[in-house]
Amino acid sequence: MRRAEVIVVGGGIAGLMTAIALARRGARVELVDRWEPGHARATSSDYNRVIRSIHGRDVFYTRWAREARLRWLELEEETGQKLYYECGTLILATEGHCNWEDNTCETFDALGVPYQTYAGVDIPTFFPQFKVDDIKYAIYEPEAGMIMAHRSLIAGAALLRRLGGTVRRGRVVTDGEEYPMLDGRRLEADLIVIATGPWMADMFPRTVKPISVVAGVNVLYHSTPDGSEMFDLTRMPCWIDHGMGSFGLPSVEGSGVKAAVVIPDKIDLDNDERLIRRSMVARTRQYIDRRFPGLVGQKVVDSKFNQIIITPDTHFIIDFHPQHGNVLLAGGCSGHLFKHGPVFGEFAAGVGLREYATADRFRLGPRRKLSPAESPSGR
Ligand SMILES: Cc1cc2nc3c(=O)[nH]c(=O)nc-3n(C[C@H](O)[C@H](O)[C@H](O)COP(=O)(O)OP(=O)(O)OC[C@H]3O[C@@H](n4cnc5c(N)ncnc54)[C@H](O)[C@@H]3O)c2cc1C
Repeated sequence: MRRAEVIVVGGGIAGLMTAIALARRGARVELVDRWEPGHARATSSDYNRVIRSIHGRDVFYTRWAREARLRWLELEEETGQKLYYECGTLILATEGHCNWEDNTCETFDALGVPYQTYAGVDIPTFFPQFKVDDIKYAIYEPEAGMIMAHRSLIAGAALLRRLGGTVRRGRVVTDGEEYPMLDGRRLEADLIVIATGPWMADMFPRTVKPISVVAGVNVLYHSTPDGSEMFDLTRMPCWIDHGMGSFGLPSVEGSGVKAAVVIPDKIDLDNDERLIRRSMVARTRQYIDRRFPGLVGQKVVDSKFNQIIITPDTHFIIDFHPQHGNVLLAGGCSGHLFKHGPVFGEFAAGVGLREYATADRFRLGPRRKLSPAESPSGR
């Protein structure tokens, strides 16, 4: 049987994992990116990303995240690289705003996901790094933690090559009909997967732009106290702090403690210097001082300014272009795609090869904003 010819555009986690899944299915895969996979502008680039199954009432993503954890463990074996640290994740439920966390517990009970809850007053006994006088309770998910993001991209590109795929540099643009072109010519392949992350909005002004917003996010890494292991991942979990619009990860491989207070910022994807906004240093420090007394006085040792593309319902996009039956759009990050990467790639590959239809939630549109109770991200 003839092997399908596939071009995947974009070497972030969505494109790489889709390319790997297509290569495993026997397709001849060429991956094209403007820059080298792992480059600093991609949404997927940073030391690490949180993996957790906590998705409120949303059974679909909870299942995907559980499955993804297994796939990451397999990828570790296959690539021989340390990709996943199972340090657990702690979700802090703020007094008076606990719907999303309450819903998560119900979903976990229904699906048999391991977790533990701690009353606010007990949290410091088990997690002494946290000061939580405004927190009603916390959910601790032990089979969760962090994926080493940059390393996963490098290992993913190497794995794709091992599976017979090729990786090349090139900037794909779209013509007036939103058909992909490279070097002045229309791309020709049985399947063209567009996984260009936030750049997808401008490439598809009629199809993707109306259902997406691109926002900058500032992330800061703080030093850990001299001589102390208290903020290392061996002692501290990742955390999500919805009430304070924040999340973070413990120090790993010397990175320092990562914390982000998510205040969507403007970003020009191609022209902005990727420098942290000064105002965010003060905002993040305020947060750190309030939540982690042991980090008061610690210094910012690293930072990252990159971006997310968000759909109104925070569901991903995996759908064929309405006018071009061989062009599959695959992305829609919404702040939570990385952890699902291997499962997302598997699913997108099957849709792309027409083995099954996409899920309704991943169709292009129209999309509607969900209430925090319905939303998989609690936002
Ligand atoms: C601060 C922050 C924290 C996050 N935390 C988490 C988390 O804890 N857990 C989690 O699961 N997710 C998290 N996310 C979300 C996750 O990182 C993203 O959803 C995911 O990385 C998106 O991957 P992508 O492949 O769609 O996009 P990208 O990584 O941006 O990849 C797109 C690629 O396409 C290429 N490209 C663009 N245009 C073209 C073109 N015209 N031609 C050729 N190539 C092109 C780019 O160069 C890039 O390499 C976070 C995101 C941010 C910003």
